[in-house]
Amino acid sequence: MRLPGLIRKPRPPRLDAEQLRRDPAGLGGLGRGAAAPPVSIRVDRRARRLAIRVDPRTRAVKLTVPTHARPETVLGFVRAHTGWVAARLEALGTAVPFAEGSVLPILGEPVTIETAPGIGIVRDGDRLRVGGDPAFLARRVGDWLKREARRTLSDRTAAMAARLGTRATAVSVRDTVSRWGSCSAGGRISYSWRLILAPDWVADYVVAHEVAHLVELNHSPRFWRLVGDLVGDIDPARRWLKRHGPALHRYGGDGTPPLADLS
Ligand SMILES: [Zn+2]
Repeated sequence: MRLPGLIRKPRPPRLDAEQLRRDPAGLGGLGRGAAAPPVSIRVDRRARRLAIRVDPRTRAVKLTVPTHARPETVLGFVRAHTGWVAARLEALGTAVPFAEGSVLPILGEPVTIETAPGIGIVRDGDRLRVGGDPAFLARRVGDWLKREARRTLSDRTAAMAARLGTRATAVSVRDTVSRWGSCSAGGRISYSWRLILAPDWVADYVVAHEVAHLVELNHSPRFWRLVGDLVGDIDPARRWLKRHGPALHRYGGDGTPPLADLS
């Protein structure tokens, strides 16, 4: 409980996020007419050094700052990393809302969202025909993608696990930022639903990776041999995820504020 009226210790001067965002020699220079990216600062007493990252979902710049870092040090650090931030933002590409006319790369194949009469949602070749109230189109497309992801990834998991003479206890999909898949000691596999927006062979690599963990819960040479047995050369898929994976977060506005609200 906080008691009003008590004398508070004077606080050391703190750099605020808005000041960093507007710094013309740093992030403020990125806007060029448009708004600079939102900035958040987390002061972490266990952090030993400054860290900066770009959240692929919100495009916000996130700073982790050790407790005793001086404001000038933080300012200098952000200025030194502004070029890096610009490159990350560019790699994320422009946002693609779930809206009429948007094109989604479903397992690598372009599919255009269309409104349609009726209440169903159906994929018809390169069209995704969405019925119902247009006000709920975005949510319905998101739900459909997650269902498709779960179905496709479950099927592929079952097929690959069978090849290794095993099976997963459960398969689920989530909206994770830093991991494309995970496998628990109990054999539960979870995937990012956004893999449905990656090329087919990339999704297959992630499935093979998690399925191989059903047998080897480690990253030993034996584990990598199993992954290779399932999908062949894994390097192109790993490279693809590193380079293009973060941009999969530009689709839809799932669970986070729409990009427009953050500018
Ligand atoms: Zn792994």
